[in-house]
Amino acid sequence: MWSRTGISSTTASMSSAVSGNRIAAPAAVADHGWQRLDWQEILARSVTREADLPPRLAVATDGPKVADTYPVRINPYFLDLIEQADDPLGLQALPDLRELAAGPWEADPFREERLSPVPHLIHRYADRVVFLVSSQCALYCRHCMRKRRVGDPLAAAVDPDARQAGLDYIARTETIRDVILSGGDPLLLDDEALAWLLGELRRIPHVEILRIHSRILSSLPQRVTGALTDLLRRHQPLYLNTQFNHPREMTAIAAAACRRLADAGIPLGNQTVLLQGVNDDAAVLRQLFRRLLALRVRPYYLHHPDQVRGTRHFWCAPRRGLDLMAALRGRISGLAIPQYVIDLPGGHGKVPLTPESVVSRQGDRWRIRSYTGEIVDYCVDPGGPDAIDEWSTP
Ligand code: SF4
Repeated sequence: MWSRTGISSTTASMSSAVSGNRIAAPAAVADHGWQRLDWQEILARSVTREADLPPRLAVATDGPKVADTYPVRINPYFLDLIEQADDPLGLQALPDLRELAAGPWEADPFREERLSPVPHLIHRYADRVVFLVSSQCALYCRHCMRKRRVGDPLAAAVDPDARQAGLDYIARTETIRDVILSGGDPLLLDDEALAWLLGELRRIPHVEILRIHSRILSSLPQRVTGALTDLLRRHQPLYLNTQFNHPREMTAIAAAACRRLADAGIPLGNQTVLLQGVNDDAAVLRQLFRRLLALRVRPYYLHHPDQVRGTRHFWCAPRRGLDLMAALRGRISGLAIPQYVIDLPGGHGKVPLTPESVVSRQGDRWRIRSYTGEIVDYCVDPGGPDAIDEWSTP
């Protein structure tokens, strides 16, 4: 039975069931000889060719090599998290022949290259730019929307001259308030290069906000050293958005890295990519978002998978994403629910997709579908002429 406040006994019992369900502690990671190494040494031991994968994760090597088209890099930390080739972490990291499938799909459906006034800088919205300051990552995700360029040292090299050209563009374009450092992974720059870049950006008077988009927290959390944390703290306001796609990526090492940054006052957000076979499951997403929130990482976006060439095996229909969002609402804290967004092909930008919650509307009178599927009467102005009391109560 629904009251005017829309709170039901069903809701209350559901809430208490969820609150009794504890979040699992971050998992310890087995030491296979790399834990005593620093992040650059771990990175140097990455697998970059199909033939070098351990036997338990071996892929066929007698046909075409995916790595010849889309670079492979799996560092030993992430490699040890993969239990089998087709598990949620293996699917994100291991080369897959389906990446080479022929079809009409574009490598750059979002027209990023056409929206670049200078190389390695994307200017789509007047007040912000995406500055691609690195072509390297600690893990080359098989679903990457920039797989046309990441890891390619020739086509996508970002040298100091290119970074200077980007800085010059930002300095002479006074509408820019917000600079998003992306790539590749900006945190694969060493501390010296990063300090120079952040310092130069902070010298531009109209730049207010710096954002770093980095998968380091889930792909190589050892990069979050005390020195890096101090460096980021000195350039506030600076936001860091990362990418955790599955709860198994939230190890004790990753959790410690998140805590270190949060303790330093760096606001942390997460952009999960919805990936078929990896996380297109309500229980998985619920666990992921709850754990993120407990680590002070705000779930920010759930990205509908991008229709980029070489990623088709990860796609699912928007209806699936809407159903998953509907399954989250009311079951976890609103703080833990990200916006479900789709990046429209053709360079039309991101738009939020919401469950079809509004069933009908007449003036200020709304009928809204609750998370349990019941239809609730709602009046925008309960004291006004359209107050619920004055219209049909069955
Ligand atoms: S870390 Fe980001 S930029 Fe690098 S491959 Fe993964 S998704 Fe792409």
